[in-house]
Amino acid sequence: MSFNSLGLSDALLKAINKKGYTTPSPIQQKAIPSILEGKDVLASAQTGTGKTAGFTLPILQILSQGKQLSHRPVRALILTPTRELAAQIFENLKEYGTYLDIRSTVIFGGVNQKPQVAQLRNGIDILVATPGRLIDLQNQGLISLSKVEILVLDEADRMLDMGFLRDIERILKVLPAKRQNLLFSATFSKDIKKLAMGILHNPVHVEATPENTTVDAIIQKIYPCAKQKKTELIIKLISEGNWKQVLVFTRTKQGANKLTEAMISAGIKAAAIHGNKGQGARTRALAGFKDGTLTALVATDIAARGLDIPLLPHVINFELPNIPEDYVHRIGRTGRAGASGEAISLVSPDETVFLRDIEKLVGLKLPKEQIPGFEPDPNASTEPIKAGQGRPQRNSTPKKPKTDNKARSNNSFGPRRPSQNNDRRSNR
Ligand code: AMP
Repeated sequence: MSFNSLGLSDALLKAINKKGYTTPSPIQQKAIPSILEGKDVLASAQTGTGKTAGFTLPILQILSQGKQLSHRPVRALILTPTRELAAQIFENLKEYGTYLDIRSTVIFGGVNQKPQVAQLRNGIDILVATPGRLIDLQNQGLISLSKVEILVLDEADRMLDMGFLRDIERILKVLPAKRQNLLFSATFSKDIKKLAMGILHNPVHVEATPENTTVDAIIQKIYPCAKQKKTELIIKLISEGNWKQVLVFTRTKQGANKLTEAMISAGIKAAAIHGNKGQGARTRALAGFKDGTLTALVATDIAARGLDIPLLPHVINFELPNIPEDYVHRIGRTGRAGASGEAISLVSPDETVFLRDIEKLVGLKLPKEQIPGFEPDPNASTEPIKAGQGRPQRNSTPKKPKTDNKARSNNSFGPRRPSQNNDRRSNR
């Protein structure tokens, strides 16, 4: 299938061509025509499936074809959980909208609001926003959302997970009742389903079908390891494997700092990103990771959200997440076109319960490999790490993501990219 058959305008096709895309990804093939028809869409899609183009392209088309009011009120609102994701969506809008007279902007917290307000005053058609800053500006009377025709909730599961439900509800109250709604989520807990049911009208269900594509296999492995030996093992894996780029996940900010220091002492170029790091530090760390100056980026789940790292051969879970869906998000960041990505988890006895939950969620028994010299103490406690060491427990059972029977998961096309942050979670 080609982009030509999706009903997109010449101006958009030209921009797509300039980006170098030749084939629409499965989610794009399914979502674009439905969105162009004005339907509500409920999409099950992770980062890396091409979901952003899946909604930005048709929105650009709808708005460019519609009646344009001279003062340019916000006509499409895209809500995302994190700054980085918001910034990336905005970048995509700019690129895809190169040949259209559509103005977009992005607003998020952590930076001066003045330039954002000035942009809004000039009039914009598409607003990409994180919920917190949007509410702030709304409370100050600096933004009107009364002309919104299209609402997108991107990474809706993350937004709920990060405590944005209240904010979303408040935003919904100031939007016109008649509008088109698009909801994207990687996982579907009870809460997400409830949110979707309250927002969407007769939605078209769209699902990325990763099992149909095999370009980007992710090999998943478990290395059982004594808790106190994990740092040594990770340093060994990176050094002896001569790895050039590895994303490492820890459960806490303190854990990320400690591990980064140990890696640096061992001669590995590493940096940590987490909620305590300022925007500047995060941007620098990411830039260094991308250009190869840094070998290892050590991140908490929240900090990793929205990060755009195109080619990622290795992901290591230094600690397993206590929210099983986070595992799916984490490993979804590896894999690259035509080559395998590798997701390795170092699992100590106190993480046995987390591993069991993850295997239940992904529907796979993950293969274990014992590295000699790192065996867990057979008498070590298998009691899970206490609450407070990670995130609050989820309270609903997630939808089982589709995977094939082998211990791998697949991307729809091309490189995956990770996602990121927000500082609401105290310890990550
Ligand atoms: P997303 O899932 O929206 O985060 O997109 C993941 C990556 O795929 C981004 O780097 C996009 O630029 C890229 N991408 C999106 N659509 C296509 C396509 N049809 N062909 C190739 N790459 C794409």
